[in-house]
Amino acid sequence: MQESVEVWYADGSLVLRAGDTLFSVYSGIMAQRSTIFHDMFNTAQPNPTETYNGRPVVEVFDDPEVLTYLLKSMHDHEYLELQVLPKISRMLYVFELATKYHVVYLRSIILHRLLERFCATTHAQFVDETRSSASLNNWILIANVARRCDAPILLPYALFQCGRKLKPSNLVLNDASREKLSQLDRALIADGTVKLFQALRRTAYQPVYFPSSDDFVTCSSVVNCRTGFSRMAQDLEDEIPQSLTARKVVWKSVRASYPNICASCIARWRVSFGNGWLEVWDKLPSYFDLPTWEELKQQSEL
Ligand SMILES: [Zn+2]
Repeated sequence: MQESVEVWYADGSLVLRAGDTLFSVYSGIMAQRSTIFHDMFNTAQPNPTETYNGRPVVEVFDDPEVLTYLLKSMHDHEYLELQVLPKISRMLYVFELATKYHVVYLRSIILHRLLERFCATTHAQFVDETRSSASLNNWILIANVARRCDAPILLPYALFQCGRKLKPSNLVLNDASREKLSQLDRALIADGTVKLFQALRRTAYQPVYFPSSDDFVTCSSVVNCRTGFSRMAQDLEDEIPQSLTARKVVWKSVRASYPNICASCIARWRVSFGNGWLEVWDKLPSYFDLPTWEELKQQSEL
């Protein structure tokens, strides 16, 4: 047995034990902030069988490291502000514990942080590519925690990112990581990503894949531009999924790579590209058989 270095209040009223680690805490503060701890402490025996330095010991079955963050956050409001919870996996596991113990305010703070820093729910966030920096394993973890913690608002973007990063073979084979996608989510990602690509071809990439005569009313050279767009469509298909799901197109390099497409056609496409993504973004949850953004927010108690 070892006393926690981080959570050891000398005048604490109760000792929590997780594995070999002991935490000295204020039971009143914890009961006030968590109905689960409240019930746990109040149903504890009046003459506890296990004590430590005269204080009752209550056993919990959580990871001591994650529990440390939960307990620090519950006792000290400033802790969460100062402590950035730098690792996304740590933030997610604390989120899971906050959900398990009904620490409502903490759950809400962490959920907002996850949405601000990693998962997009607005179009402005969506076009910000820096958000996609998390690894595939972290996106899988986000999807699983969203399922386990009734936070489906995290799902559309996490499933979208899994679809971008998973190879079709990974959707079937189990990998060695700790978190694995469920069969259901694997199927949703496989189907949803195909639906997403179809939607993108018809919206953001419509002039490329399905050019109509309307697209060329201001064109200076219809035959050349049609040829250029058709070549681009083939190049995009070769690079799927990264090509179609890149939300920022470097228009200068499009001009350089496809010099036979005229400036007017590029300019028109630029406008319809943004509008197309807006439309796809709005429907993103539906590709993964999820309800609307609004309903997801409500279900997640945002
Ligand atoms: Zn043109």
